[in-house]
Amino acid sequence: MAYDLLIHGGRVVTPVETIKADIAIDNGKILGIGDRKFMTGARRELDVSGRHVLPGIVDPHAHLGYMNTLEAVETETRAAACGGVTCLGVYILALKDGILKQFDRFKAEFEAKSFVDGFWHLMVIDTLTTNEIRECPEKIGLTSFKFNMGYKGPHADLIGITATDDGAVYKGFRMISALGAPSLAACHTENIDIHLMLRDELIAQGRKDFRVWNDSRPPFVEAECMRRAIFLAQSANCPLYIPHITIGDGVDILAEAQRQGINVTGETCPQYLTHNNEEPAPIFLSHPACGCVNPPLRDKSSNLRLWEGIQRGIIRCVGSDLAPTTLAMKGDNIWEAPMGLGNISELLLPVMLSEGVNKGRISLEKVVEVCCCNPARVFGVFPRKGNLDIGADADVVVVDMEKKVRVTPKSLHSMCDWTIYDGWEFTGWPTHTILGGNIVVENGQPLPRKPGQGRYIPRSIHEAQQHA
Ligand SMILES: [Zn+2]
Repeated sequence: MAYDLLIHGGRVVTPVETIKADIAIDNGKILGIGDRKFMTGARRELDVSGRHVLPGIVDPHAHLGYMNTLEAVETETRAAACGGVTCLGVYILALKDGILKQFDRFKAEFEAKSFVDGFWHLMVIDTLTTNEIRECPEKIGLTSFKFNMGYKGPHADLIGITATDDGAVYKGFRMISALGAPSLAACHTENIDIHLMLRDELIAQGRKDFRVWNDSRPPFVEAECMRRAIFLAQSANCPLYIPHITIGDGVDILAEAQRQGINVTGETCPQYLTHNNEEPAPIFLSHPACGCVNPPLRDKSSNLRLWEGIQRGIIRCVGSDLAPTTLAMKGDNIWEAPMGLGNISELLLPVMLSEGVNKGRISLEKVVEVCCCNPARVFGVFPRKGNLDIGADADVVVVDMEKKVRVTPKSLHSMCDWTIYDGWEFTGWPTHTILGGNIVVENGQPLPRKPGQGRYIPRSIHEAQQHA
């Protein structure tokens, strides 16, 4: 019997070690890891001598559209695949009719266009979506739920977000707790009452520069809400995930909660590790509206403390918070701009390799831990995803730790015509992405999408408990 694919000559990286090994793949799964001497032949061979072989990146934090929740699925998942991502955690905004009624349509749209696999998080925005929490695991294999604590004001009104006061959030936490693992709540933590007060003051002063964003949502606004979310989750006995932590103090808040045995997982994003308000990216000076991202970019010391939080095992996941926009969509008024720092998923792994590993901040094993295994475990897709083990999905990324790439918006594969990394030279870059045993990115170039590529990954409560 011949395997479908043999990846040979590389060094395989796990969270605990890096070993010289070949990988045999058949029928979309990993069937063997070791010396090819002990493996039968393969229909296709990929020589990766001198390179490293990692599990495909599981990016737990992606938005693929704004009001129309999946409108950018094609371009943005293609870009993510070019960055070595094989599985995305996609935030789904199910306006008006809720998720259960619209699920089949969303799934069909995703599976018709996506270049990578994905599991989804439901944005809990109103009474309807709150009441749907109970049925989501069984009916649609969805076990993670996102709350925007206290979210209100003009933007919340535009979207129709209503169920965000502490009572509504606590109610949701209680429902998730009753579901059991791996169900969990993800919370956007910023104190919106204080933000809205500061916003009025700053608008009255005529401020429109990019630094106004941090001034309208200063670090204590995030710290206060992080503490409150942790306290409410603890009170409801609900596992909590805090995405996009930006503040150095966030590491201390997480560490303290973890010491108390509270089930809370923290995520930060590449942009909060590499960017700050003290040495702004040129795009923020020419286009201040591009600096509109919640929570905001902070100071340089936060960059360093977040790297340290990863290194010490306190921040356990890194996600991109991919939020596709063009310069035209961003416009020229920061107060009205759509949020987010654009195409980050494609650069998540390059940032970790170039700024993290090659600058001596973290090990390659740590990259696999926080970008593959941990997100897969936390969200209940492990051991199928985030894992190079026999029986796992054959999702693999090959990286060249010495490859130098100079980034411009044009060199990337997203719909975004801007990037905060414009002009950066990265050392360390993915060369091949393999999804379910198929090479989908070859020498950095995406191959045409094949039918069946990019599936919705359902999760189940019982299965996850067996592997806990
Ligand atoms: Zn987000």
